[in-house]
Amino acid sequence: MLALLPLLFLVGIHMYKYFTEKELECKHCEEQGIDPAFMQKVDELRDKMGFAFPITSAYRCPDHPIEARKKAAGAHASGRAVDIAVRGKQAHRLLQGALEAGFTGIGVSQKGGVRFIHLDDLPNSEGRPRPHVWSY
Ligand SMILES: [Zn+2]
Repeated sequence: MLALLPLLFLVGIHMYKYFTEKELECKHCEEQGIDPAFMQKVDELRDKMGFAFPITSAYRCPDHPIEARKKAAGAHASGRAVDIAVRGKQAHRLLQGALEAGFTGIGVSQKGGVRFIHLDDLPNSEGRPRPHVWSY
């Protein structure tokens, strides 16, 4: 087991090409909860797009203030959602790329100072229709 530790460490710090564990954790309690398969898709999309994906929110635990005030915890609490701060031409390209990559939940906030695109890959379910697009 001891011999495996350095290997696990290496795997841990190179989970994703473009994102650190730190920027994906719950900002309220630092809990790690992002879904690796989902994040792999985001990593691949980032590679394809060729511009930075500043992550404003990724995993949010059910006790995160934004989740806690909802009737039921949202997509971020599943670990299969990210908000990416992009605007203008890059937002346009990201939407096209996200649709091609099969993301099923796309939230668009492109007004005023807070501009981002939410991506998730959740399946269709009661109270959470997919595929779905919404604005904030
Ligand atoms: Zn939390």
